[in-house]
Amino acid sequence: MSLLVKSVRDVVSALGRLPGIGPKSAIRLAFYLLNTPDSFVEELARSLVAIKKETKICRQCFSVSDEDMCSLCQDEKRNERQILVVESTMDVLAIEKVGSYNGLYHVLGGVINPLEHIGPDDIKIVELIDRLKLLVEENKDKIELVLATSLTMEGEATALYIKNRIDRSGALRDLVSISRIGSGLPMGADLGYADEATLSRALSGRRKL
Ligand SMILES: [Zn+2]
Repeated sequence: MSLLVKSVRDVVSALGRLPGIGPKSAIRLAFYLLNTPDSFVEELARSLVAIKKETKICRQCFSVSDEDMCSLCQDEKRNERQILVVESTMDVLAIEKVGSYNGLYHVLGGVINPLEHIGPDDIKIVELIDRLKLLVEENKDKIELVLATSLTMEGEATALYIKNRIDRSGALRDLVSISRIGSGLPMGADLGYADEATLSRALSGRRKL
């Protein structure tokens, strides 16, 4: 590494901080970029800057968006009283690709994970409860909440925590029916990486909590 010139070393060190990129891959990618046409590197650099500057987080579902409110939340044809709770926008994209779900989403931005010091207040749980309360105030029709956090220990604990929060709220308990995706997804599975058939099975096979 010390034999590398500084500009290459900087790129290797930055790429090496990306998930799934080890030191060897970082060096290979840096040399690939060095030998690739200027136009491609410039396009890559521009798009990397833009991803931070031009993306917003939807104020209702916290999914990545290019407006204050994402296109799904703005879509009047979607059922706003069915909310699928997921960990990340990647999960939203995976489920939208299957195409069988017509409700809205709520992106938590992670799961409760005491080992990594991520508590309930570090993800969008309060925002979810507030969103449900607003819906209940609008009218007393039932709301269906599908907890689709991953089937890991942390994902299960997060689902249980949300269910308990709702059960403890007199305003919500009787109007929110809660189910958990499950059958079809292997234990420990991450939603964003599941194939379409598996996701479709997991969605239709949800069980009441
Ligand atoms: Zn949204």
